[in-house]
Amino acid sequence: MIQRLFLTDSRLLEFDATVVARREHQGRPAVVLDRTAFYAESGGQPWDTGTLGEARVVAVVEDGGDVVHVLDRPMTGDRVKGRVDAGRRRDHVQQHHGQHLLSKAFVEVARAETIAFHLGTEVTTIDLDRPVTGDQAREAERRANEIVWEARPVRVETLSVAEARAQGLEPPDGVEAGVRVVEAAGFDRQPCGGTHPATTAEVGVVLLTALEKYKAGTRVSFVCGHRALDAMARRRDVLDRLVSTLSAPLDELPAAAQKAKDDLATAERQSRSLLERALEGEARRLLDDVRGADPVPVRSAAEPGPPALVVAAYDGWPPNDLRVLAQRLVALAPCVALLGSRADKAHLVFAQSEGLPHDVPALLKAAVEHLGGRGGGRGNLAQGGGDRLDLLDEALGRARDAVRARA
Ligand SMILES: [Zn+2]
Repeated sequence: MIQRLFLTDSRLLEFDATVVARREHQGRPAVVLDRTAFYAESGGQPWDTGTLGEARVVAVVEDGGDVVHVLDRPMTGDRVKGRVDAGRRRDHVQQHHGQHLLSKAFVEVARAETIAFHLGTEVTTIDLDRPVTGDQAREAERRANEIVWEARPVRVETLSVAEARAQGLEPPDGVEAGVRVVEAAGFDRQPCGGTHPATTAEVGVVLLTALEKYKAGTRVSFVCGHRALDAMARRRDVLDRLVSTLSAPLDELPAAAQKAKDDLATAERQSRSLLERALEGEARRLLDDVRGADPVPVRSAAEPGPPALVVAAYDGWPPNDLRVLAQRLVALAPCVALLGSRADKAHLVFAQSEGLPHDVPALLKAAVEHLGGRGGGRGNLAQGGGDRLDLLDEALGRARDAVRARA
């Protein structure tokens, strides 16, 4: 049976071992050793990386009681020197032991049990079996950190299943021999096969980064040790940029951001209102131009005279503005509106007042085809566009002639 050296000493990173089996794992060479300091992925904690001789250990997996070291290249020889990557091991020790402390703190503070644990590459999460409040989370965070700063010894012992149960510790599924129990002295005791520090101080600090509703409980994201330093540095960079962008000191950022958002909404409302007024004025100006100097009244049921024909082209107008202008025109007086814009491409919007006889979609279809494009519409409004900006005036002229021929 393989000797798992990390179970008794998580600081042991170099070891000698004998190859007892060679395998292939998902297309890569792999070996089983008689003893190893490499932790295989299990219980929410990822595997260690490192080297066996010249080969990189790219994954370590449990397989039917064996620890399989997956390598980046085949390994020769039966005796091998193993080296576990120290940085990754220390990172996992900090996050995993921090998890034990935080989980126990949530039991103390909110009677919330941890039902899942995931040690991710950036953030670690625990899932609690019930909702917890922001205040409870802050209290649990404070409690976990007190235990860290007290530098309590972390002890590991192996109990029989019966002994474990007698102490109220439920062995993990499948454990029949010894139950490994990890204890942060006087605070937390639980069955665990992971890598842990000699004292709680090695965790450094436990920092909660997010609290979200998850199923019937709460998902808590946190970072420990050096990850907490990195997380704070990232937040500091973001906050520094916001302080500069919003020209407000740190404590006033939320108010400054809210004010910027409110100001933007007000500006957008004003801008929409101004645009509507401008388009209304433009519609009246066009109708005045077509029908002489008389001001255009708001349309009455009995509008005298023949319908007006309005033809106009603009530079840079978006098609939406053309459409609103056309809608204002046909509402103000009986008229046919043939509008164009030279923008990212040539846009056309054609419209007529209710009761007028032209086939607006057909007029538009002919005009946009002249522009090498496409478009469509129904009833009294149609729009489209094409790439031939140079032919816009010609397309409008042809449509105008077609309307006049029908009138
Ligand atoms: Zn654990």
